[in-house]
Amino acid sequence: MSSATRYDRQTRLSVIGQEGQRRIGESRVAVLGCGALGTVAADILARAGVGYLRLIDRDVVEWSNLQRQSLFLEADARSGRAKAEVAAERLQAANSTIELEPVVADVTVDTISGLLDGTDLVIDATDNFAIRFLLNDYSLLHRLPWVHGGCVGTTGQLMFFTGEGKPCFRCLVPQMPPAAAIATCDTAGVLGSATHTIASLQATEALKWLSGHREAVRHRVWSIDFWANRSREVEFPAALSESCPACGRGELSFLEGAEESTAGEPKVLCGRQAVQLPPPAGTPSPLALLAQRWEELGEVQAARFFVRLTLPDSLTLTVFRDGRTVVDGTDDIAKAKTLHARYVGG
Ligand SMILES: [Zn+2]
Repeated sequence: MSSATRYDRQTRLSVIGQEGQRRIGESRVAVLGCGALGTVAADILARAGVGYLRLIDRDVVEWSNLQRQSLFLEADARSGRAKAEVAAERLQAANSTIELEPVVADVTVDTISGLLDGTDLVIDATDNFAIRFLLNDYSLLHRLPWVHGGCVGTTGQLMFFTGEGKPCFRCLVPQMPPAAAIATCDTAGVLGSATHTIASLQATEALKWLSGHREAVRHRVWSIDFWANRSREVEFPAALSESCPACGRGELSFLEGAEESTAGEPKVLCGRQAVQLPPPAGTPSPLALLAQRWEELGEVQAARFFVRLTLPDSLTLTVFRDGRTVVDGTDDIAKAKTLHARYVGG
């Protein structure tokens, strides 16, 4: 099998051709989030021949993901494997000629640099405003383009940001919305066909840019209600950028850590009975050592990116390789901290 055969239907497109395909093959893309948008966008980009994909996600596969996250199977939810790892495995089987790097980590002000370093474009598949603001600051500082996609209920929206100045995401959303005002997939539900469509549109914009056709990229915000058959395109008024704290005044407050929401602090994971605790200061315990220490305490599962202890009362502690711990079965941060101190230690 030659790569000429593999990409034949794509290189036949006059807008891509051999030259566009060559550029796509040399591209390095970070997919931030391997959920509904990330799995679908990554699938399209991997098959299109993007040379390097970094798949970043902090979570494990759950049953409620299977309705729309089409790279995952029941067996993945049953074993609770890391999303990034499973996604990389499936995509490598679909295209063995590209490089895939799974990263199981949380995006914070401390980690974003290491996570996005050396990439040419980012797919925003985060479903998280704090991370989007952080990504927006990072993009403006490093002139890194990104494709925003968001979906909730039966609606979705899409926007491309070049990273080269105005406009930026904060022109569109100047401040962090209050938590109560944000409808998320967990509370409002989401239509699987809507997330597939938005992810597909994100991949389309990425391919335009990466193949060298920057003039073809969409510069307006596109919002679609797939159920109500409504679609709206909005131009950014220049006045928005003038007053924008980020691209207008150059205040990158999220990246500078001035905004609490992006710090690595204990947090209740939305829509789940679970608390995430940040990596402890100092060197985290090696995972193998933890697994050994837990043997007498409950059921222990050791995987490539984490070790998990299921206690007799069915609370579980999952310690990831980046040092984070997720305590499932409670939304009480104090209780999670106590369990962490007892079973994981300082
Ligand atoms: Zn702006």
